[in-house]
Formats: sequence, C-alpha cells, structure tokens
Amino acid sequence: MLPLVALVGRPNVGKSTLFNALTRTRDALVHDAPGVTRDRNYGVCRQDPVRPFVLVDTGGIAGSEEGLAGATARQSRAAAEEADLILFVVDGREGASALDDAVLAWLRKTAKPVYLVVNKTDGIDAQAALGEFARYGIKDMFGVSSAHRQGLDGLLARVLQVL
Ligand code: GDP
Ligand code: MG
Repeated sequence: MLPLVALVGRPNVGKSTLFNALTRTRDALVHDAPGVTRDRNYGVCRQDPVRPFVLVDTGGIAGSEEGLAGATARQSRAAAEEADLILFVVDGREGASALDDAVLAWLRKTAKPVYLVVNKTDGIDAQAALGEFARYGIKDMFGVSSAHRQGLDGLLARVLQVL
C-alpha cells in the first residue's frame, strides 16, 4: 500500500487545485483499496517517480456549499483518519477565518502529522500571509500557489521526508 496524504480545509481554499497540480491530472482516480468511498477523490502523486504516494482530496466534491456542517466535514474527518499525513490547506489571501479555526480544532485531536499549506500566495507577500497563521502553532508551514505551481517542490520534499 502506498502512503496516503489527505488534503483538508474549508471550501474554496484551493484543495482541488493543489490536488490537480500534484497529481497532474484533472481526472479523479478511484483508488482500489478496500474501504474507499466514492465521495473522496483519490490520485497518485508521482513527482518523485520512485516514491509515489496517494493523495486524497476532500470537500466540495458534490458541489456542496454546506461548509463544515455536513458531508464536507465527514469526508474530511474520514480522510484524515485514514491518512499518514494531513495537509491543512488555507487561503493566504483571506487569512484565517472562523471555518479555518474550526478545522484546526478537530485536527488538533488527531495524532497524525499536520502541515499547514498557505495557498494563493501568488502576487502577495508570502511571509506576511504565513504570519497570519503563526498563531495556529503548526511548525511546518508552506507558502504555495497551486494555480501557478509555486512552492510545490519544497512542500513535496518535506512530505516525502515524513512518509
Ligand atoms: P477547494 O474548494 O478547496 O477545492 O478550492 P478549489 O481548488 O476549487 O479553488 C477555489 C478557487 O480558488 C478557484 O477559483 C481557484 O481557481 C482558486 N485558486 C486555487 N488555487 C489558487 C492559487 O494558488 N492562487 C489563486 N490566485 N487562486 C487559486
Ligand atoms: Mg475542491
């Protein structure tokens, strides 16, 4: 079994864009592992060809706008529970929101490693954007632009270290 990395975060922060950038596909691959449900999107990241891992995207898959209240939250929790590493994705342009705080609150209950991915740092001061999230107390923070493929190499290198 390949290691599994879960993308978790409130809607619209760019999880699916990051998923596509890392898996280099727009097609959802359905992972054939047992217990996998259809409401989560699985793909394989092969950017390092000798160390592939499975990436799971969560939330908004059904076009839901219910935020953390319903299916999105359940999917995210289920993905986090099966993952070896959680990438907590936030929006560097909008800064920390109440929904991000809510995601953080339940991520704190997991013993899994959590990295903070501050997305959408294209065209803004990435350091300032990271600073907005310093109070979350997550040691591993990465400023990226999934849409422009910036910062992904550094993130991947660190991901591969922990898997
Ligand atoms: P999700 O709901 O977390 O999966 O977010 P999406 O991947 O669907 O992206 C939400 C919106 O943010 C879309 O309009 C994306 O084009 C935009 N977006 C995603 N990543 C970036 C980024 O790195 N920079 C900018 N400027 N926009 C982004
Ligand atoms: Mg999405």
